[in-house]
Amino acid sequence: MNLGPRTSPGTTRSSRLSRPPRRRGLVTKEVVAFYARVSSDEQREQHTIQTQLEYARGRAKLDGWTLREFIDDGVSGKKVPFAKRSGGAALLEAARRGEVSRVVTYRLDRVGRRAKLIHEAIEDLARAGVPYASLTEPFDTATPAGRLFLGVLAVMAEFESDSIAQRTSDGKKRAAGIDDRRLTGVIPYGYARGEGQRLVIDPRPGKRKTVKLSRWERPAVSRILKSEIYAGRAVFFKRSKTTEAVYRNVPAIVATATYLAARKASAANKKFGGAHRSHDYRLRGLIKCGRCKHTITGRQWRTRQGYYCLYCPAGQKAFVEEASITAILWRDVLEFLAEPDATLRAIARSATEVGNAEERAEAELVALAQKYAEFDFKESQLVEMRLGKTITPAIYDDKFRAITAEREQIQMQMQALREERAAAARAVEESAIVRELLGTLRTLAEKAGDDPARRTQIIRTLTKEVAVYVTDRRPRLHVTYAFGQPQVRTDARQRVAVESTPRSTYRPPTVRRRACGGR
Ligand SMILES: [Zn+2]
Repeated sequence: MNLGPRTSPGTTRSSRLSRPPRRRGLVTKEVVAFYARVSSDEQREQHTIQTQLEYARGRAKLDGWTLREFIDDGVSGKKVPFAKRSGGAALLEAARRGEVSRVVTYRLDRVGRRAKLIHEAIEDLARAGVPYASLTEPFDTATPAGRLFLGVLAVMAEFESDSIAQRTSDGKKRAAGIDDRRLTGVIPYGYARGEGQRLVIDPRPGKRKTVKLSRWERPAVSRILKSEIYAGRAVFFKRSKTTEAVYRNVPAIVATATYLAARKASAANKKFGGAHRSHDYRLRGLIKCGRCKHTITGRQWRTRQGYYCLYCPAGQKAFVEEASITAILWRDVLEFLAEPDATLRAIARSATEVGNAEERAEAELVALAQKYAEFDFKESQLVEMRLGKTITPAIYDDKFRAITAEREQIQMQMQALREERAAAARAVEESAIVRELLGTLRTLAEKAGDDPARRTQIIRTLTKEVAVYVTDRRPRLHVTYAFGQPQVRTDARQRVAVESTPRSTYRPPTVRRRACGGR
């Protein structure tokens, strides 16, 4: 065999010779928390948790992570907040203890299926000091573009969950026919769980009343009067826009005629009663008091729904109608979506910057790879010297150790550069996606039409906060959007239907009072 210098790296001979074992990468393995969730509806599509786990384990192997798995099986992503799920709570705890460096899921919709729940979960994680990433959707909560993307995805997860509800409705109907004995949910007052999981009339009347209520409150009475179950018809599956309700028969407590009479009487009473119509305050959580920074919850004033701080003294606050705020936000959102140039330019600029960073990292990596290859040559030279007995075993070992140390040094540098390059590539990809998603949002905005629910969904995606200030006893909105310049001032004087402070209806809050200016 030719013992002259070799140019090809790596020799079969050197591997046969005893040499100090080369440790694989000095970098300690990153501990990544993987969160998997499946709801009972999705459960029907089998092995969902398994699929998520397999994917994550594959990625962990590839990227050299140590995976810690947190699982919520049969938990709704529409109702249960992340922190209230057993897997989610355990994960947050681990994050707070600093045991994991980041959190990943298979897809964003595993975190939740309501934009609000998703945002809360990611904020909780951020507070615990760990960033979140989706394994299959490229974005990073650390960048503004990533956060915007996240918002859009969250809304899409919500849109999609509506179609899932539709799909599973058929399955539920089938289940209703096959197994009408299965009991789920709260047992209505007056009933009990009987033999074979059937609903039976509770032989001990008044049982639940003494447990839960000291006296009969109006809502409880109203609920019972409205419930068809007492006439023997239990809703098994609620009616939606596209599907009919499914009922099943249960033992009746009152005659159908009595039930119908009660409904009729209640409808007649409504004409006279000034009962509150329950209103869905769609902007809840977004509106803050500019003065004390408390989040303002929705309130009704006379016939209007709006927002009004409970903590500030009269004269220092104003009632702002929800419709007015929505109109302002919607106009701004439409304006932005029609002309998102400034944002796109900013994204393009940062994309160029990271693009350059990617090239730089690439070039350095190539240089290091060449250097690394030289070690193979040095090693093979050493092996040949040892075979030719021109050096002693001790010197051979010393030199080998020195080369190995240098190799590891370079390996570490290369690892860091690879990460840098990957981050830059992600950012470039992300900006392209944001561009595309803005288009999607525009389409969604066009589709939303006059539907207030759809409009608010889009508004909530693009709005971070609305602070209400009062100057000269008139409200002013200070809006922070997720796009463009961080703050857009809207002069409320021209655009908000101004209300004077409703002193007459103001009562000191009965909720726990927090100090003004706190938080
Ligand atoms: Zn206030």
